[in-house]
Parts: sequence; C-alpha cells; structure tokens
Amino acid sequence: METVDILIVGAGFAGLRALHTFRSQGRHALVIEASDGIGGVWRHNAYPGARCDVESYDYSYSFSPELEQEWRWSERYATQPEILRYIEHVADRFGLRDGILLRTRMASAVYDEAADRWTVSSEDGRSWSARHLMLCMGQLSAPKSPNYPGLADYRGEVLHSGDWPNKPVSYAGKRVGIIGTGSSGMQMTPVIAQQADHLVVFQRTANFSIPAANAPVTEAEDHAVKAAYAARREQARNSPTGLGFKPNRVSALDASAQDREAVYEAAWNRLGFGFALAYYDILLSRAANDTAVDFIRRKIASKIDDPVLREKLMPKGHPFASRRPSVDSGYFEAFNRPNVELADIREAPIQRFTPSGIETAAKHHDLDMVILATGFDVFTGSLLKPRIVGRRGVTLRDKWADGPTSHLGVAVAGFPNMLIVCGPGSPSLLSNVLLSTEEQIDWFSRLLRHLDDKGIHAFEVGVEAERTWAEHIAERVRETLYMTTDSYYNGAEVSGKPRVFMPYSGGVRGYRRLLERCEAEGYTGFDFSGGGSAAKAARPALASHG
Ligand code: NAP
Repeated sequence: METVDILIVGAGFAGLRALHTFRSQGRHALVIEASDGIGGVWRHNAYPGARCDVESYDYSYSFSPELEQEWRWSERYATQPEILRYIEHVADRFGLRDGILLRTRMASAVYDEAADRWTVSSEDGRSWSARHLMLCMGQLSAPKSPNYPGLADYRGEVLHSGDWPNKPVSYAGKRVGIIGTGSSGMQMTPVIAQQADHLVVFQRTANFSIPAANAPVTEAEDHAVKAAYAARREQARNSPTGLGFKPNRVSALDASAQDREAVYEAAWNRLGFGFALAYYDILLSRAANDTAVDFIRRKIASKIDDPVLREKLMPKGHPFASRRPSVDSGYFEAFNRPNVELADIREAPIQRFTPSGIETAAKHHDLDMVILATGFDVFTGSLLKPRIVGRRGVTLRDKWADGPTSHLGVAVAGFPNMLIVCGPGSPSLLSNVLLSTEEQIDWFSRLLRHLDDKGIHAFEVGVEAERTWAEHIAERVRETLYMTTDSYYNGAEVSGKPRVFMPYSGGVRGYRRLLERCEAEGYTGFDFSGGGSAAKAARPALASHG
C-alpha cells in the first residue's frame, strides 16, 4: 500500500490547486480521479452551449501572476472547451500530471484510529495510506436522472447534461427533447434549436435568467485587466460573492421608480449574474425583490412573440435569485423559432416514456433524442457516494443523515484529518466557486503548516463547534429569502433529502474573516490532542460580517 501525506479526491479545479499547493509545501500529495481525464465538471458538462457565467478573468486561478499574464481568454464568458483547455494547460504548466491517477474511483476511506491515518481504497482494489484526506469532489458532480416509467424501453438516445459523451453529438434532422430548464437546459436550448429538426423543451419551473452580455475580449481589454490584475483580484475577494460587484448601498425601495429603472437597465445590460446586487436588499426583502421581478418579467416578455408562450415562460411564484437564476445567450428568443416547442409539464405532466418518445397528459411527443438537463444531487451527492468511515465506524452518510454538519464548512466532527473543499457549510455555490476554492486551500495549507510546526499528529473539530456553525448558517440565511422557496440550496432537489440550507450565505469576505479569526485564535473549534478527545474543543466565538 502506497503511503502519502495527503490523498486528494478529484482532479477538477480544486484538486489541481490542492496538488500544486501542497507539493509546493514539500508534501507528498496524490490525486485520485474517477474519470479518464482531468477537469471535473468542466470535463463532464460538455453539452452544447456550456459556458461559465462568471467572467473568465475572475473564474481562473489567482495563485500565479505568470499564469495570469500568459493565458489569453477569448471571450468575456468562456465556453466549456476553452475552460477545459485552460485546466489542461495548468496541469502541464505546473507539472501536475504525474501526481494524478486517472480512472481511479474512490470506493471507501476508513480512518484508522490507532495510526491516525486514512486508508483509501479504489473500486478496482488499490489502496493508499494517507495522513490527510482532502475531498475535492465538486458540488455538481452527482447527476440526477428522473425515473419515468418506460424510460428503459425508450429506443432513442438519452443523454445527461452532466455526463456528456466524449464524442461529437449530432442533432441534424432529429427531433430532440430537453427535460429541465435550469442553467444547463437554458444554455443548450438556443444552440440545439439551430441544429435540430424539432426541439421540445419540457419545463416544470420557469426560471429567471439574465442575458450574458458575452463578447470577445479585445486586445485593449486584455491588456487593461492584466495591467491591474492584483487589484481586480482584491476587489473580487472583498465583494460579497467573489465576483467583484459591490452591492448598491441604496435600498431598491428607497430609489425613485425612474432611478430604479435606470439601475436595473444598466445591470441587465452588463452584470449578468451580478444583477442580484443591483440593490443590496434584493435578496433580503420580498418587496425589494418584487421590484427586480417586475423589471425582469417585462424584459423577458419583450423577447417572446407569442402571448401564450410568453405567460408560460414567465418565472412566477418564487423570488428572483432565491433559486439559482441562469445567465443565458438567447434562451427566450429561441421559442420564437418555428421548430421550438414548449411542453409545460407543470400543466400537463410527463406520464411515461414510450419506445418512440414522451407522453405527457396533453400529447405524445415523438423524439429521436432526449437530453436530461435535470440537475444534480447538489452539495452532498458526490461526498456521500463512497463509504467514508470516521471514528468508531460511523459513516459520513450516517453522520449527515439529517443534513450536512461541519465546523466552518471545512471539517466534520468524528472525521479527523479530513478536509472538504467548497462543501456544504461554505460559500461554495453562492460565490465565485473558484475564488472560494483557492481561499480555502490556502487556509488549509496554513493549517497543515501549523500542525507541522507544533508537532501535531491529528486534528479534529468538535461537535459543539459544529453546532455553533450550524446556528450561524441558519442565522445568516434567516436574513435572506433563500428559505422561502424550494431549491437545491435547501435540499429540495432530491425527494427525501433533509431540508437544510447548505451553503454559507454570509459572503466570501465575511467567511474569510471567520477563517482568519479561527486561525489567529489558535484554531478555535479544533482539537489537536488526537485520541478522540475532540469533544473538548472550545466553542468558537462568531460574529457577523456582511
Ligand atoms: P438545475 O438548476 O438543478 O435544473 C434542473 C432542471 O431540471 C430544473 O428545471 C428542474 O425543474 C428540472 N427537473 C429536475 N428533475 C426533473 C424531473 N424529474 N422532471 C422534470 N424536470 C425536472 O440543474 P442544471 O441546470 O444542471 O444547473 C445546476 C447548476 O450547475 C446551476 O445552478 C449552476 O450552479 C451550475 N451550472 C453553471 C453553469 C454556468 O456556469 N454557466 C452552467 C450550467 C450549470 P424544477 O426547477 O421544477 O425542479
């Protein structure tokens, strides 16, 4: 059995950054990756139209000024192939490939209490002994497929947006169905509409979407960003979501109708995802949110010719951004094409698949191909697939049966020497996830250095610290509209999943300050004595940071 200092699970953005960082510290780090290539979600979500809705210059690594200067993004919002090229480039540029084992899916990780080490085993029977286990398994890595009657007998092709085949897919001359209108479904719709003979979009919940305002990056823009990149990164780090936008300090309700219209118009044309920060209280007050909803609905309405379709495509019943809105490039306009049809499956639900298509309560749709853009078991799906066993034989699945718990979103009581990157309890999907990833990994690297400096064998967080963090997450989310609707933020995307708000909504700057304070105070909430005495860990003091 090979022995390593750190076993990193997953070779996406997080796993590669962790490998580079821990190697730079002189540690023996190894990444295991289930698939046959690196890139994580950016490898698997290769569906047509896939692109990031965080600006390229912000959705990129910040650890190397040389890399920042060398890489040339071609568009304001990079496509999936360009992001994957960037990831491959980083792996080569920093010599990471020899630290990654592909086609190696973790089956189990078991903590050996006597040795204070993890034994990690792959599905094909190999195993490693590691002092630390770092889970970089992604939040959107467990695709979720509906289980409609007759699906197994359907004779056409079935694809999932999150498990896209690694080969060209042709839509020409085909009747294609897309189930799901989240970011993935909304991104692929206009692209497939241009190629397919006929496209049916099966919509259960109409989603809000802001136009991407994508454009090629000019030489002058590239030069300007690179001349002041450090300042741009600093601005992103100190913005609530890590996107660089500062919320408007004015309440949407205090602005005059005329000013509000102008602010929303500017945000609509330029900010994409940042529209939610056009006023600071859009996500805090239903009345303020209603002003944004009114504006967005008018904008969407103006894009759709047919009045019946217009009403069906109009998001309703939930506040804007309480569920993840999309950033699209021509989604609503696609429904003006004669070959695109909307199937409102809230009104006429899918009854079954037939060998030749999908039958709803209203009609039968003949389809050559069905694309499931039905999302993921978010936050916990990938973490709970393998068998992770902590102290006294308790599995992470058992430990999280009522919802994920952690101290600061980084570590779990009963699972010593285990760290989670961008998991539940951290800003994660409520932020520029790449920025959050890097900030956590840098903090982890300082934690491990602290352990080395002090000759500490093992760390563990206490249950009291977990309770305090859970209370803090709940307290922060109560200030917002996030719990007023069902979403994958609160576990509603999978039936039977505990209804707990999972990410941390206090912002990346506030979160970083809490991590820094924990560190400055000698890692409050952590126990360094080993031997199962973590419950003694001090109750950490928390304060709100907006
Ligand atoms: P999603 O947001 O969870 O959307 C899934 C869609 O499928 C929803 O419309 C959902 O309807 C529908 N659905 C789920 N189960 C269904 C069923 N049994 N029958 C009919 N419809 C069903 O998933 P996603 O679009 O893949 O996006 C997930 C996340 O990935 C995004 O929110 C974003 O964070 C990330 N992402 C990012 C980008 C980007 O950066 N540009 C692109 C794509 C994805 P309901 O709403 O009614 O549940």
